[in-house]
Amino acid sequence: MSPVFDLHCHSTASDGALSPAELLMRAKDKGVSVLALTDHDTTFGLEAAAASAEQLGICLLNGIEVSALYANQCLHVIGLDIDPKHPVLAAGLARQSELRGQRARKMAEKLAKKGIADAYPAVRALASTGEITRSHFANFLVQAGKAKDQQDAFDKYLSKGKPGYVPTQWAELDEVVAWINAAGGVAVLAHPLRYNLSHKWIDRVLAAFKQVGGVGVEVVTGRSSPDDIRLSAQLALKHGLYASLGSDFHNPDNPWVELGKLAPLPAGLQPIWQLFGSAVQSLLP
Ligand code: AMP
Ligand code: MN
Ligand code: MN
Ligand code: MN
Repeated sequence: MSPVFDLHCHSTASDGALSPAELLMRAKDKGVSVLALTDHDTTFGLEAAAASAEQLGICLLNGIEVSALYANQCLHVIGLDIDPKHPVLAAGLARQSELRGQRARKMAEKLAKKGIADAYPAVRALASTGEITRSHFANFLVQAGKAKDQQDAFDKYLSKGKPGYVPTQWAELDEVVAWINAAGGVAVLAHPLRYNLSHKWIDRVLAAFKQVGGVGVEVVTGRSSPDDIRLSAQLALKHGLYASLGSDFHNPDNPWVELGKLAPLPAGLQPIWQLFGSAVQSLLP
């Protein structure tokens, strides 16, 4: 039987609801054979994930989802099969973590001006020892009765142009790809259709991404429609990029997105796992 891949998901190290150990147990239960844990701008969950993966007999790839800027647009770059301890990557991520902390304080100040007090201590507590993300602000706003659900919180307060939004000077795309490559990983542009860019701009982004050393693009995510998959596959082919797939699982309460529950990669693409080491190759038919 072909191995089941899921190369994009989150734990409590960033905005996922499950601890790394709980996530690995769920992955096992859902039949995932190769999992990459890809938390936002942190490798903090990887050690615990590796310990669970070993116990459960899952092949875990060290991963990350790094926030990056290209022409002032925020993009998400997945790093797969990275060395999380590599000093270049670690230094870059330390800076991103600082940016997240500063942004969270500024967001709390902006919300206070709208009459929503004490957001910072609340999101700090919700994130526990993990990175603070806008998802934590969304959960806080729901709990405070200011939004009916996460989506509503983003629509009312947290999306670009809304009262709680704070633009952030994430590292530039070329730097982020360089960190991932320095750490021995492969860089994949996450969810290319989720940035709401025109065809012209997504082509520009992918050409630039490849030029600075990016090698893959996500073709299948947990929320992709058949049309999304067709379009993303065309982008991979057009730009000569390897194809990746990952659920972007955050929370067991979301019935639409599940670990390992993914449409297959369309035929004719080069799967990103061709680039992985012998532990993965030995699982392939
Ligand atoms: P951040 O990196 O802190 O800006 O947070 C980004 C995260 O917020 C994403 O990874 C998603 O998990 C979540 N997110 C972004 N936009 C939305 C939205 N419209 N609805 C729900 N969650 C969202
Ligand atoms: Mn997220
Ligand atoms: Mn993302
Ligand atoms: Mn993600």
